[in-house]
Amino acid sequence: MLLDTRAMRHLTADDWRVLAAVEQGTKNHELVPTPLIEKLSRLKGGASGVHRSISTLAKNGLIGRTKDAKYDGYRLTYGGLDYLALHTHSSKKHIYSVGSRIGVGKESDIMIVADSTGAQLVLKIHRLGRISFRTVKTNRDYLRKNKTGSWQYLSRLAATKEFAFLSALHAEGFPVPAPIAHSRHTIVMALVDAPPLRQIASVPDPAALYAELVGLVLRLARHGLIHGDFNEFNVLLREDKTPPAASEEDDEDEPAVTLTPVLIDFPQMVSMDHANAEMYFDRDVACLKTFFSRRFRFVPTDPGPFFADAKKTVGRDGARRLDAALEASGFTKKMAKDLEAAIRTQEAEAAERGDVGGEEEDGSDYEDEEEDEEDIVEKQHEPVVIVVGGDKGSSTSGLLGNEQ
Ligand code: ADP
Ligand code: MG
Repeated sequence: MLLDTRAMRHLTADDWRVLAAVEQGTKNHELVPTPLIEKLSRLKGGASGVHRSISTLAKNGLIGRTKDAKYDGYRLTYGGLDYLALHTHSSKKHIYSVGSRIGVGKESDIMIVADSTGAQLVLKIHRLGRISFRTVKTNRDYLRKNKTGSWQYLSRLAATKEFAFLSALHAEGFPVPAPIAHSRHTIVMALVDAPPLRQIASVPDPAALYAELVGLVLRLARHGLIHGDFNEFNVLLREDKTPPAASEEDDEDEPAVTLTPVLIDFPQMVSMDHANAEMYFDRDVACLKTFFSRRFRFVPTDPGPFFADAKKTVGRDGARRLDAALEASGFTKKMAKDLEAAIRTQEAEAAERGDVGGEEEDGSDYEDEEEDEEDIVEKQHEPVVIVVGGDKGSSTSGLLGNEQ
């Protein structure tokens, strides 16, 4: 499904209220009964205005009906949720326009956006549940039984968690993109002008880069955290050029280039106190080693780092524990458990398909999947691509019309 953000400009204030009402109703109803939408939207014009808005929203694919429903009602689509989030970011002046999509993760869409000054930022739209939960029975059954398998709920949790950690890590001085805003299943952060490590063919000093990355793993551990997906897609390698020092002898004018790794992608972070912490820690380290050995033919002589040693350093030298940052932001244990079940399910499914990396080349995998009545993820959860038409120069015009 392609969703054009240009439709945002044509929605009236009433349309937005009705869309927000459907979102509100979704908290307690899978399908929000039309009378409830009327009640929640509190439009001055009454029911007829609501119906007009419902029809506009449905036409634009922002809300949908379910066939064979026992009563008349609507649910929010991915597009509707995207619009609500974009509307919030836009109203708060964090986003002015949406540009092209730069990445399709298995659990996200990454878009370039711009604020009103034209500065480029990144919008990460979480799409947890895009790939159906077919395997790992325990987690799937858990999600289903607890009625928490909904893509909306899980995607919101993923964004909330990611934003909490991004903020905590940034405040602590970790090399991560600056956090800017969070709404629903989306976060806005600084654009890091750097390719993922995955795209780097060679580096001048693999040993130094490896040491720096291991240093990051250990620094996270001191703060009580394990990244949990420390792979070559989630490390961006920024080239920082520093002018040569005046005292240097060589007379070449070439600026010295330092490579600074920037960490991204935090929904799966785990605490050093997690029951499986050692497994996640070892997996992150192993991932790094495998990549360095394959890509740069670099094999460290040191067999570590080991979890037991890292564990002893938690909180050392006054390192603030960041694993508590999430609960401090209102994320309950139940939410953490729900999100973890979903993430582990997706991981296992990716492993089953033989995907090891972070991204799909294209979206074809999704289309090939068979339909399955029982799946938690149904048709309406297909990925939505937001496209702002380039030919009309829309990327330089705002998302919203006069109705914000
Ligand atoms: P996923 O959870 O789907 O793996 P990521 O957060 O890892 O999503 O983002 C996917 C890709 O998008 C990354 O590998 C990277 O290439 C790009 N990306 C994500 N965030 C940024 C950013 N702030 N700046 C630049 N590129 C980014
Ligand atoms: Mg990633």
